[in-house]
Amino acid sequence: MAFDSWRETPRLAQPSSSANRMCPTRPKTMQPINRRSALIASSLLPSCLSRVLANTPEEKLPPKYLTSDADIVFHSTLGYPKRWRQLYEKTLKHYASTCGRVGPTHVFLIENPDWDSENISEVRRKKLLNSQKQLKREFAQLQGHNSDGRYLDWQTGNHWAGWSIDPAHLTITMTMSPLRDSLQFVIGPIHEYTHALQTAHGYAAEAIDGNQMGHSRWTGPAWWREGSAVLISYLYSYHHPELFETLQDNISWSRFSHEMNRNMDLYRKSKTSIRTGVTHDDWQRLEKIDKVHPVVYAGGSVACAMLLKRCGSFKQLMSFLPKVAQMGWEPAFENHFELTLEKFYRQFSETVARVSPEFERVPTDQNWFAFLERMK
Ligand SMILES: [Zn+2]
Repeated sequence: MAFDSWRETPRLAQPSSSANRMCPTRPKTMQPINRRSALIASSLLPSCLSRVLANTPEEKLPPKYLTSDADIVFHSTLGYPKRWRQLYEKTLKHYASTCGRVGPTHVFLIENPDWDSENISEVRRKKLLNSQKQLKREFAQLQGHNSDGRYLDWQTGNHWAGWSIDPAHLTITMTMSPLRDSLQFVIGPIHEYTHALQTAHGYAAEAIDGNQMGHSRWTGPAWWREGSAVLISYLYSYHHPELFETLQDNISWSRFSHEMNRNMDLYRKSKTSIRTGVTHDDWQRLEKIDKVHPVVYAGGSVACAMLLKRCGSFKQLMSFLPKVAQMGWEPAFENHFELTLEKFYRQFSETVARVSPEFERVPTDQNWFAFLERMK
């Protein structure tokens, strides 16, 4: 599944009781894919914060993630193929050197026995499963849980980015198989690390104080979070063909524009506005009607392409992120893109109604996406 293979499948569940136990010390760990636990935790936060303000010695201020010079630590299952680990690391370091080393970020690279289920030996299968077991424990302990981490769902294709507040760090978990889609070792790290950037820059105590907007107050609407990760992972890959030098294929202009035209087509056919893909509850509703991908991912990426066009360069688009921490997502949006969110939604739906996606060849200069070919 070419485009689905690194969607974050929202299956991971921290035991919800652990969220309830987090106060009185303060919510310890939140994962974007486990919004419910996080919301329970955030409703408990104000009382924690008041203790912080009262300067009780055992309480610390809510942590901030580092937005530069943070450590990026790799963990992998025993015997993880060196070539693929190196490619993954190279991509992530390349991207982080351009957009900032945020975190600390812990990256877990997981090999599964089903990558090559017909050829794997029984001995290797057992070793691999055993190694996963140990790594799950390591993951849980890193998050501050004394647990064996059995709640972690590491099946192939189940990728996600997460965060922990205390201890403060970000996590990325990747299970993709090089036998299914090797390009994912370049696109995947960029996609997930974009979530790390969004989280590290978007973090603000204010953003988790109250839950009426779910996490959209923190790192923005779901369509922005996923749409920007989809667009940027392709754009960055297109700008840096050197990342693909050990692979047979790369992200050419025709591939990139085809992907985005397909996203435009999927979004148009969904007949559902990105406005319906903002909060955690929206996500749940869209999931029930099988529209998370066309609206949040595909529609979001098209919306972010429009925002990129508006601000003129990749660098300008990324310079939006630090404003989120200072101003909150929506005021930062209005300041950076110089239009209200409401107006953007209106303009966006007018554009979408007007354009025709082109798939079969390199798009013409009239294509809605043609502007990106030479944009830096
Ligand atoms: Zn994502």
